[in-house]
Amino acid sequence: SAQAETLEFQSEARQLLQLMIHSIYSNKDIFLRELVSNASDALDKLRLETYRDKDLEADTADLHVEIALDKDARTLTVRDNGIGMSRDDVVNLIGTIAKSGTAEFLRKLKESQDAAGSQDLIGQFGVGFYSSFMVADKVTLVTRKAGTADGVRWESEGEGTYTIEPVADAPQGTAVTLHLKPADDEDHLFDYTSEWKVREIVKRYSDFITWPVRMLKQGTESTEEGAEEAAPEFETVNSRKALWARPSSEVSDEEYQEFYKHISHDWNNALETVRMQAEGTFEYQALLFIPSQAPMDLFMRDAKRGVQLYVKRVFIMDDCEALMPTYLRFVKGVVDAQDLSLNVSREILQQDRQIRAIRRRLEKKILSTIKTMMTEEAEKYATFWREFGRAVKEGLLDDPDNRTAILDISSFESTHHAEKPTSLRDYVSRMKDGQEHIYYLTGDSRTVVENSPHLEAFRAKGYEVLILTDPVDEMWVDGVGGFEEKSFQSVAKGEVDLGGDETSDEQKAEFEDLLKWMSATLTDSVKEVRLSSRLTTSPSCIVGDSGDMTPTLEKMYRAMGQ
Ligand code: ADP
Ligand code: MG
Repeated sequence: SAQAETLEFQSEARQLLQLMIHSIYSNKDIFLRELVSNASDALDKLRLETYRDKDLEADTADLHVEIALDKDARTLTVRDNGIGMSRDDVVNLIGTIAKSGTAEFLRKLKESQDAAGSQDLIGQFGVGFYSSFMVADKVTLVTRKAGTADGVRWESEGEGTYTIEPVADAPQGTAVTLHLKPADDEDHLFDYTSEWKVREIVKRYSDFITWPVRMLKQGTESTEEGAEEAAPEFETVNSRKALWARPSSEVSDEEYQEFYKHISHDWNNALETVRMQAEGTFEYQALLFIPSQAPMDLFMRDAKRGVQLYVKRVFIMDDCEALMPTYLRFVKGVVDAQDLSLNVSREILQQDRQIRAIRRRLEKKILSTIKTMMTEEAEKYATFWREFGRAVKEGLLDDPDNRTAILDISSFESTHHAEKPTSLRDYVSRMKDGQEHIYYLTGDSRTVVENSPHLEAFRAKGYEVLILTDPVDEMWVDGVGGFEEKSFQSVAKGEVDLGGDETSDEQKAEFEDLLKWMSATLTDSVKEVRLSSRLTTSPSCIVGDSGDMTPTLEKMYRAMGQ
């Protein structure tokens, strides 16, 4: 038509599409999960919007998802009557990728040469709508935003450009039609026009979706010659049961994992599943997950954080930060509260006493879950700590109330073992007789710390020293106090008394002139030059006052321009 426009995909979108077209995922079935998940999100959004805007002219009488197959045309259509998209929405949401971390992801993908490595990376990055291009050589999307009159038709073969044009009479919501690639062979396992196959995928990946996912009932779609015209009959394929409301004995691990993938947009299994029930005056249910891999944006400012909030089974919001402290921002899941208004806003939640109480409970539960993991599943815990330890340690600063519990689930590199980090409990159990402090040294890397002259005497005398190399370590270690009555002590600060061999009077006499000369020469740079027994092979080292900043912290402040 005259009004059709051809537009280009944003370059990052183009790169991702190329990955899809060349089918990097081994499991192509998941394209349907992604489409059904988008349809379900669109229905959630519409319901929410109608709560917020009473004047919205939208049809909410029979919200559902529908899947239609056409064997002859080789098409599969996923249709919803949800929120829909305007023309600009389509251009912005489908033509570009707004996710933070995309550029980073693509760069890493390019760098990783081996196929296995790329699979790992891709697993961390859901590609959503674009996964359609794994199985389709052309995708058509027709949509109309609820409350507006103008429909939009979008079409693309995934190769660089798409067309977009207005359409009249588009129903409210979105219909995505995949023009399926020619079948490779007769293998029905990959025939997405097979009703059996499609049902199986929906059951497997989307059973818990709370909206009905309907398919045309078998045998009712075509009318045989001479037979009476029967109205097509639809059947709901999914059981629609909210997982967090079902007894845990009835939910399989696979179901939990699929639910996790649905809400987190992660493509990997979760590391740990946590369920909570609270009865009484303030009733709620929670189903939480600890991911197995840190997201790309864990340390970015605009990182998503928090869990989903439901009120009486109705989805209210994503990323509800009021329910999870920042240092546990990687925890995903759902909290379903019984006594909140459906109209709650983020601002109200921040101040709500009951929400704060839930948050404290969730935090404690997550910490105790990690503690159990640490004592009972060492390997799992090691994975957890590798991925999220750096974030968890922020809690030592942010959350004084839980400091002890956080220290208790933390582990640190140490001179005790070249690879295995140690818990503080284990460190303390190895402390030498009379040792009063937990010794540590901060630095940019393990190598830097290990080569530090400060470490020499401690190593020579057999004292274990924690090696702290995360920037956040500098921030908490001074303020935290101690662990089990043992305070943290930097080996780079002040006079550390390791007992035994004080420098002898003889030595003092021998070096007196040298020290005088050095003090005079270095008078602008150092406060004092003194003889020390703390070194074994290095001739000298610089030591800070007990109250001083560590060199790394000093560098950080300097870098920040202070
Ligand atoms: P994600 O779902 O992770 O945001 P997708 O690639 O699956 O990423 O979808 C991109 C965006 O396109 C969605 O966030 C949504 O805004 C929009 N979108 C996709 N499908 C639909 C749909 N059926 N109805 C309305 N909006 C949709
Ligand atoms: Mg999606």
